[in-house]
Amino acid sequence: MPQDPAITPQARIEDPEIPEQLLLVPGPTPVPREVRLYGAGPLINHRSQPFRDLYARVHAGLRQVFQTEHDVFVWPASGTGALECALVNCFSPGDRVLSLPMGAFGERFAEIAEAFGLQVERLETPYGRSVDVAAVAERLRQDAAGPGPRFAGVLITFNETSTGVLADLPALLPAIREHGALSLVDAVSGLGGADLRMDAWGCDVVITGSQKALMTPPGLGIVAVGPRAREAGERARLPRSYWDWRAYRAMAGHGETPYTPAVSLWYELDAALRRILAAGLPQVFARHRAMATTARAAFPAAGFPLLTSEADASPTVTAARLAEGVSFTDLSAALEARGVTIAGGMGPLKGKMLRIGHMGGLSGTDLLRFFALLDESLAGLGAQGAGRAHPAAQAAARAAGLL
Ligand code: PLP
Repeated sequence: MPQDPAITPQARIEDPEIPEQLLLVPGPTPVPREVRLYGAGPLINHRSQPFRDLYARVHAGLRQVFQTEHDVFVWPASGTGALECALVNCFSPGDRVLSLPMGAFGERFAEIAEAFGLQVERLETPYGRSVDVAAVAERLRQDAAGPGPRFAGVLITFNETSTGVLADLPALLPAIREHGALSLVDAVSGLGGADLRMDAWGCDVVITGSQKALMTPPGLGIVAVGPRAREAGERARLPRSYWDWRAYRAMAGHGETPYTPAVSLWYELDAALRRILAAGLPQVFARHRAMATTARAAFPAAGFPLLTSEADASPTVTAARLAEGVSFTDLSAALEARGVTIAGGMGPLKGKMLRIGHMGGLSGTDLLRFFALLDESLAGLGAQGAGRAHPAAQAAARAAGLL
């Protein structure tokens, strides 16, 4: 059969129609070439020794990155599927849960819980701020003193991607544990970029996706389950079939998954995990922090006020309000023309701000290139701050040890 030139591997990797972008949306993130190529090998049977070896490597690597000795389950799914998996395995119809939304993704977690018939109470945090730890502790104290059944769980977004805010998990978790509620932590845009010590901090369930700081393409939803959640999973009565993590656990002893795994993505995750672990977790977290420091110096220098305070800031996503007179549509088009893709605001912040992800495979050099292109784009738009972002980024990156 003659081969269509459009589907040769070379054409896909170096497609002139889809040139390699500087992809700065906060997920999917740039995937290193070596990781992408590692997924391009021949398919294998998932009921075979090569898959069992891959399974062992991926689970061992994930346990290190989640900083847990407990179960980790890898599903063919996006992060949202993994959030649903966590909920249906932990709770029963009518259970009360406390949700702590700080933005659009915390809101999504609450909505999934509602869709499954849980009674969700929201403790809202203004967009751009991190959860108020004292307010959560106080709400849990009142709940414990109340007459009805207590909250069975607390839904937390570790890193709120829509606002670039990190929750103070170690400060939040003790009150939740004391209350007897399960902590379900959405770490989709945090895990692998921000320190999250699942066992040491006592998280019950931690959820992530492959396409963010784990620098793997989209398609794997990953759920880590501590002993209390595992026990709750034995009693939970929400409907579950595909997502039932007991089926995954039942196969774990064989080193296989209950259903067909996304084998090529597993290979890519394997390569990405090895890269992360070879660099060392403390170094990886420090690099993410240094990238955030760089971004937080550069945006205000060009007239873009930061959305969040230093104390609340995420190491993987930076959000800034737009500079005076600059529209998101014009700026993102000017950047696109230079091969750069950024994200805008979500929900009530749509059209009012920009966001960039700086995680996973993105290098410090890439980040500086972005600020040079931002300056160029701002100059093209006749904006006042043009020419100021890159020098500020460079100075901050040097001071933070990123370069
Ligand atoms: N939670 C957070 C914090 C996210 O950032 C995202 C995606 O950006 C999701 C959940 C949803 O993940 P997905 O789009 O992979 O379903």
